[in-house]
Amino acid sequence: MTWTKRPPWLISTLALLFCAGVVLILALQVNQSYRTAQQQARTETETEAVILEGQISNAVSQLNLVLTDISRQVPPEQLSGVALDDDAAKQLNGYLLDKLTMVRQASNLALISSSGQTTHEALDTPEAHISLPAEEVSNIRNNRYLNRVYVTLKPESRNRTPSLLILQRIEDGNGEFAGLVAASIASEYFSKLFDKVPSGPNSVIDLLDQDGFVLASLRGLSHQNAPYPFALDTDALNSLGNKEETITQLTKSADGMRLVSYRTIPGSPLRIVVSSASEDYLGNWRRNSLAYLFGGAILLGLSLLMSFFFWRSHRLSRNLRSKEIKLQASENRFRQVIETTPVALMLARLPDYFVTYINQQAAQLFDLPQAAALSMRAFDFFQDRVQFMDLVYYAQRNEPAHNVEIVLRRHDGMPLWATLSLSTVTISEQVVLVIGINDITERKRLEEELKRRATTDSLSGLANRAHFMERGEQELQRTRRYGHDLSLMMLDIDFFKQINDSFGHPAGDQVIRSIAEIALACLRDTDLIARMGGEEFAILLPETDLTATLEAAERLRLAIEEHMVTTPEGHRIRFTTSIGVAQYTEHDSGISDLLKRADKALYNAKHQGRNRVRQYNDSKADDLPLS
Ligand code: GH3
Ligand code: MG
Ligand code: MG
Repeated sequence: MTWTKRPPWLISTLALLFCAGVVLILALQVNQSYRTAQQQARTETETEAVILEGQISNAVSQLNLVLTDISRQVPPEQLSGVALDDDAAKQLNGYLLDKLTMVRQASNLALISSSGQTTHEALDTPEAHISLPAEEVSNIRNNRYLNRVYVTLKPESRNRTPSLLILQRIEDGNGEFAGLVAASIASEYFSKLFDKVPSGPNSVIDLLDQDGFVLASLRGLSHQNAPYPFALDTDALNSLGNKEETITQLTKSADGMRLVSYRTIPGSPLRIVVSSASEDYLGNWRRNSLAYLFGGAILLGLSLLMSFFFWRSHRLSRNLRSKEIKLQASENRFRQVIETTPVALMLARLPDYFVTYINQQAAQLFDLPQAAALSMRAFDFFQDRVQFMDLVYYAQRNEPAHNVEIVLRRHDGMPLWATLSLSTVTISEQVVLVIGINDITERKRLEEELKRRATTDSLSGLANRAHFMERGEQELQRTRRYGHDLSLMMLDIDFFKQINDSFGHPAGDQVIRSIAEIALACLRDTDLIARMGGEEFAILLPETDLTATLEAAERLRLAIEEHMVTTPEGHRIRFTTSIGVAQYTEHDSGISDLLKRADKALYNAKHQGRNRVRQYNDSKADDLPLS
């Protein structure tokens, strides 16, 4: 695979880069989503401040209009506290009540005299009663530029809530302070407004008066009774003035970070403060970030795991490769050795005997290309397959063959003498036959030649005397063992000396050769024909009784008689032979006994006129000396 060829440092660097990339993308994603969440929370906080400012500013302006209207409608002298008649008082109270119904944000409307006395009220109940501290009245009286005044009425007990008084200065015809028209707004009115604005569970909304006193507040559940969770930025509050703008700050608070928006209620000294806690607005971001981190960690873990597995597989493949190289080198060396060895070698696998390797020498020996041998089976190279299987059988039982003389089979079918070594080896659970072959054809040929020379007569090509005697003894033993017949002929050319004398020695040789040819043609293949010396021949006839032998001898004699040899000089030579026949008897201790008897019979044949066949007869009459 191409992967394994890449340098390992490159793979490690790529893996590290991948990890770094994953971490970077995660960090960017988390950072980006943090910014988005922060930005969104800022917008929401500011929007809440703007919405509340609008609501409160509407309520206050509406009330201001009503106060202005009342200040114009009510004659200044009616404020002075001078007792009005019942009808006039009722009418004035009714008027105030009418006005109060027009402004639901107000909890009461009242007229206050220049001395600070509340002279008339829309609602005449103790809870709704408006009473103004004397110092406030004198302050307004003395400062003629104070036309509209906002006063916070702080509760005397903890159970009460504060309320806001909006006062409208009234002057008489001479421009003198005549009294005040007052409207009160309960803290609850603002609290209800705050409730309607959607905000987080930890959000804090406050309405502050000019002194920073909290007129109304919405505290998240966790801050209900807790101290104020963050410090107000007085600088920001002061810098707002009457401007219609929102200042938003990120502040550290007791419960983490907070986004705080400050905004002025236009036309009043009131300020609205909206703050949202990071606990609320970053909740989603935290959950998402956790999910990202978890996913990232899994991805990182996976990529590290992948790198580890890759590194391990790379190391394994590198080890494997180095082993392969070593193996290859050792195999090359092995091949070199067996290719250059003078011994022919062949490997074949079991159990199908297919040739898996053959060296050059073996291929040459069998006279076929190396590649062609690979489609053959080992036993195709043996003449005797049973013998081959026998060798394999023993080799598999730890008895390998060493230098066994055997006849192999060349590709063209010709026999091939060889000494063979055959053993088995197991290579990766595969049993392999290792066959070493040594060609001994030439040695065998020489051996055969020597043997032939030792047993053959060079002139006639027949067996020589020694060979005849050896074979004769063997046949005699066999005859004795099995109780067969065995006969022997002795043949001598008549007047051979004369042939030599008349036509020369080579002509005599020619005659000897022709006798051999005729005998071979006339007799059976199983008969052993030998030249015993000079112009004497002996013929051994196994499994042949006397009668059959006499017939065969007569046939041979006739064939010779009818034959004519023509010499190179053109001489035509006719010749005859005398044959003596003897049969094996159980008294014969060796072939020489039989030979002697046949010789005697031959002697008789000569004596009786030649050119005839005589059998051995042990009567004294036949036993005549040669003339
Ligand atoms: P007979 O009929 O009694 O056998 O008469 P013969 O002339 O054949 O007498 P003999 O058997 O004694 O003669 C053998 C002769 O054969 C003697 C020798 O010169 C000749 N002779 C022996 N060996 C060879 C040989 O190898 N070649 C030739 N040309 N002549 C041989
Ligand atoms: Mg002779
Ligand atoms: Mg002779």
